[in-house]
Amino acid sequence: MVTVRVPAKVNVQLGVGGVRPDGYHDLANVFFAVALGDEVTATPGDGVTLTCTGPDADAVPLDDTNLAARAARLLAAHHGLPAPGVHLHIAKAIPVAGGMAGGSADGAAALLACDALWGLDTPLDTLLELAAELGSDVPFALLGGVALGRGRGEILEALPVSGTFHWVFAVADGGLSTPAVFRECDRLREESGTGATIEDVPTPDADPELLAALADGDPVALAAALSNDLQAAAVSLRPSLADTLHAGTEAGALAALVSGSGPTCAFLAKDADAAAHIAAALRASDTCRTAHATHGPVPGAQVVSAPRP
Ligand code: ATP
Repeated sequence: MVTVRVPAKVNVQLGVGGVRPDGYHDLANVFFAVALGDEVTATPGDGVTLTCTGPDADAVPLDDTNLAARAARLLAAHHGLPAPGVHLHIAKAIPVAGGMAGGSADGAAALLACDALWGLDTPLDTLLELAAELGSDVPFALLGGVALGRGRGEILEALPVSGTFHWVFAVADGGLSTPAVFRECDRLREESGTGATIEDVPTPDADPELLAALADGDPVALAAALSNDLQAAAVSLRPSLADTLHAGTEAGALAALVSGSGPTCAFLAKDADAAAHIAAALRASDTCRTAHATHGPVPGAQVVSAPRP
């Protein structure tokens, strides 16, 4: 049996360029791995089978579309294993369709867990290539820490960071579809007269002030530099997120932003005590389903000695 713990991510910068002729957007995506995470346990099995537990387990597909199952099959195919056998159990803590890359995290965890279970010893570079085939957020879940993602987000460069930052995540009822949020971003750009194509919107770049705040371990400077070009689109599709963002700010957050494509909202706190206070205030506020205080950055997917009780 092999258990892998894998972090969720928050995008501390999500710069979205114009829509390319292939339909994708160029991103300047600064990923930040947080301790809120899933665990994937691989045991020998017949074929590739899945189970899932956790508050959002009902929303997780247990068929071949699950990224953990796709990862197991992709790794087996890469090594020419004719009949891969594994049972994958996902202990899910990352909100589903929440903008925290939970499915991608499980894909990365399954790659690592199956690699260990099947004794394949696949080099990290190869695992990162397989991860990029699964989805643009999957390589970061293997790497963890803080990284700049370019292209669709899959070309990664690890970034220097000092100390620990304290975060609160407010979980909404129900998810948002990432493609729908990108479409809404394009629609809002068209509507505002900016235009939405690569001719209209310059290719985004990492914000030097954000990178300096991360390297200095300075939460106040990081709070001032946080940005998410998808936030307006997520709030447009789910107007109640404005109330959630406001409730966290009222409770003392240094900054509030939508996590990735949402609807999870992220709040940066000055320290662990402030994070606990903001999480309690959000839980009492009636503007979210629940709220978790956590921290980061943390490492990417890694084998642990035993699953969480
Ligand atoms: P991202 O931030 O990468 O856009 P997300 O966090 O918004 O993603 P996910 O939790 O990854 O969203 O789920 C998006 C969809 O992916 C789900 O609605 C579900 O149908 C599908 N999915 C596939 N595998 C998984 C998985 N292991 N866990 C959760 N959802 C999965």
